[in-house]
Amino acid sequence: MVQRRLPSERSSIDELQSLAESAGYTVVERLEQVREPDPSYQIGSGKAKELREVVAENGIEKTIFDNELKPVQAYNLTKTTGVEAVDRFQLILEIFARRASTSEAKLQIELAKLRYELPRARERVRLARVGEQPGFMGLGKYEVDLYYETIRRRIYSIRGKLKKIRKKRRLHRARRVELGFSMISLAGYTNAGKSSLFNALAEEAVPVDPGLFTTLSTTTRTVGLSDRKILLTDTVGFIDRLPLTLIEAFHSTLEETIFSDLILLVVDISEPHDEIKRKLSCCLDTIQTIGASGIPIVTVLNKIDLLSDSEMQREAAALGEIAPNPVAVSALHKMNMDSLKQETIAHLEEYIKASFSVQTTNESLSFISWLFSHADVRDVNYDGDSVNVVFESLPRFADKVRGRVEQLGGAFSA
Ligand code: GDP
Ligand code: MG
Repeated sequence: MVQRRLPSERSSIDELQSLAESAGYTVVERLEQVREPDPSYQIGSGKAKELREVVAENGIEKTIFDNELKPVQAYNLTKTTGVEAVDRFQLILEIFARRASTSEAKLQIELAKLRYELPRARERVRLARVGEQPGFMGLGKYEVDLYYETIRRRIYSIRGKLKKIRKKRRLHRARRVELGFSMISLAGYTNAGKSSLFNALAEEAVPVDPGLFTTLSTTTRTVGLSDRKILLTDTVGFIDRLPLTLIEAFHSTLEETIFSDLILLVVDISEPHDEIKRKLSCCLDTIQTIGASGIPIVTVLNKIDLLSDSEMQREAAALGEIAPNPVAVSALHKMNMDSLKQETIAHLEEYIKASFSVQTTNESLSFISWLFSHADVRDVNYDGDSVNVVFESLPRFADKVRGRVEQLGGAFSA
C-alpha cells in the first residue's frame, strides 16, 4: 500500500488496506510519504527505489496507490519495481467486479472502467510504443485513434444497453430469493467492522444443506440469532471519497445485494462525531435512493471498546435522532452481542409452524428435499404410503408450500 500526501492531508492508508482486503489481497507492507506529487512516479524517485527494494525483499506481486496514477506514473513505477502498479480507482472497480452478478451491475462497472481508460488511451498507446511494458496490455499494435475510437464506441453501446435494462428494473426490484428463512444484509462504510461482525455472527452458524448455497452468493452464511436459520449477506461496502464516475456502479452493485428482510447498518462509533453523522446520513440516503427504504434498519454502533462509558453515552444520545434502532457493540471483542440479537429478531417477521401430508411419490419426495434447503424442516415421518412433514418458515413462504401441497393432492395445515 502506498500513499503520498501533503502535510495538510490526513493518512488514509488504513482505509486503503481495508479496501485491498475486501478485494481479496493480503497486505504485506505500507509506505507513506509527505511531499508534493512527483510527475514521474507520484512518490519521490528515492521513495520509488525504496519501493523496489520492499517489493523484491518480500516477493510482493502488486503495488496499490491511494493516489490517482497518471499512465506515465504507472508505467514508470511498473518499470522500476517489476510489478504492476494500480491506483485506488482501479482497486474499487475490482471490489465491485467481485460482488456484481447482475448484468446491469456488470455493465455499470465496465462503463466506469472505460470512462477511466478514455482520457488515458492516447498516453497509454504512446507508452506502449516506447518499448517494454511489463503488466501492460499489448497495445502496441493499435493505432492511437483506433484504440480511442474503440473505447468511445463501446461506451456508447453500453449506455444503450443500460437504458433498456433500466426499463425492466422495477420488475427485478420485487424479486427476492424465494426462501423460507429471513435474509439480513450487512451494510456500512469500509473499516466500520462489517467483516468482523459477519464473522462474529457466523461463528455460531447453524449447519445448512450445501445445496442452498449454489443459489446464493459466496458472501452469504447462516447465522444463529435464534433457534431459527437466518441468512446473513455481506454487501459491497460504502467507500469514502467515492469517485463520481463510480457512483452508478456502486448503486447497482449494492442494490442487488441489499434487498432483504432487514439491514444491519454498521457504524464505527470511535470516529469523530461529525464523521459518524456524515457517513450515517450518506448510508441512509443511499438506501433510500436505490429504493430499499421500506426495509427495517438496525444501526450497529461498533467499536464501543474504544470509548469510555460517558463518551459512549454522549455519542449514543447525539445519534439518537438519526440512527434507526441503535445497538452499541464491539464486534471484535464480542461485547453486547445478545442485545444486538434481540433487537434484530424484534424487527424480523415471526416464522410460523405448519405441517402437511402427501402421498409418497417421486414427485413429492423431490419436493420435500427441496423444502429442506429452503426452510427449517422440523420433522419428517413416513406412515404407510404417505409422508408427514412439519416445518417452520416465513408466512409468505408457507403460502407457497400450501399451493404446491394442494397441487400434489395432499393436506396442509398451519
Ligand atoms: P469492514 O471493512 O467494514 O469489513 O471492517 P473490518 O471488519 O475489516 O474491520 C476494520 C478494522 O476495524 C479491523 O482492523 C478490525 O479489527 C477493527 N474492528 C472491527 N470491529 C472492532 C471493534 O469492535 N473494536 C475495535 N477496537 N476494532 C474493531
Ligand atoms: Mg469487509
